Amino acid sequence: MSALEIFSLHQSELSPGFQIGRALPQRQLRRIGAWAFLDHIGPVELRPGLGMKVHSHPHIGLQTFTWMVAGEIEHHDSLGYRQTIRPGEINLMTSGDGIAHTETSVGTSGRMHAAQLWLALPAHKKDTAAAFEHHQQLPQIVGNGWQTTLLVGEWLGQQSPVAVHTPLIAVDVLAQVDCHSSFKLNPVFEYGILPMEGELHVNGELVPTGSLAYLGTGHSSMQLQAAAHSRALVIGGEPLEEELIVWWNFIARSQAEIEQARADWEAQSARYGELGQLGEAWLHAPEITATLKSSGSNQR
Ligand code: MN
Repeated sequence: MSALEIFSLHQSELSPGFQIGRALPQRQLRRIGAWAFLDHIGPVELRPGLGMKVHSHPHIGLQTFTWMVAGEIEHHDSLGYRQTIRPGEINLMTSGDGIAHTETSVGTSGRMHAAQLWLALPAHKKDTAAAFEHHQQLPQIVGNGWQTTLLVGEWLGQQSPVAVHTPLIAVDVLAQVDCHSSFKLNPVFEYGILPMEGELHVNGELVPTGSLAYLGTGHSSMQLQAAAHSRALVIGGEPLEEELIVWWNFIARSQAEIEQARADWEAQSARYGELGQLGEAWLHAPEITATLKSSGSNQR
């Protein structure tokens, strides 16, 4: 795939009444590099009764990555980390073989806006120790009217401190004025561009609000054009050449692994850490009703 492809986000409910736009996975686009999941949260005005409240739930085989643009979310996990994430900050949780967490919006008014992603752990790191990182300081690159924040990876000689396990990049791109310029790309990476505020043109093609643009490998640059105050998230990575099963909150390589992870969670097993601290409420896993299918990378 070399030309730009545009995918529509799917509306989904994260907690009762709280809608998000799901950009990944898509039927025709399972992942971008190791980025296997992407929710665009908001922008939404919170009010009493409308907020984000995700009770205790488990993860295996991935890292959860939260980038906060507006508002605050409190993260609490079964390793004992309790961390409020604020605008301009990143939370990164590594599940390894098992972790659980809760996520709750802070306050009952004001704007909430964020992106939440999962990164598949490669096979040799899938059982790495569970961990949690919080980052407040990220490299900023300002020029040509853009204010960019390097969230993950290496770009224009800068390096993000966020620890990931495959070659990846994530950049928050904010147009301070009306902008049109060329952005350097790594030709061995595939890329996704998500408009977060406003819309933009990629290589002359409109990428509307509520969509995700995909650009395959083989490009050393792209043209970005955006009106003042537009914001986009650019993600990319080396295609992860593994067959993965993404089911509920788990990423694994066989149905047996998923079934075991599900059974352990339903038994509230110590595999998932100290669950008692996360409160009484927890999310049950759905039943597995069919043979689970794995998917490879998008290179065909
Ligand atoms: Mn989660």
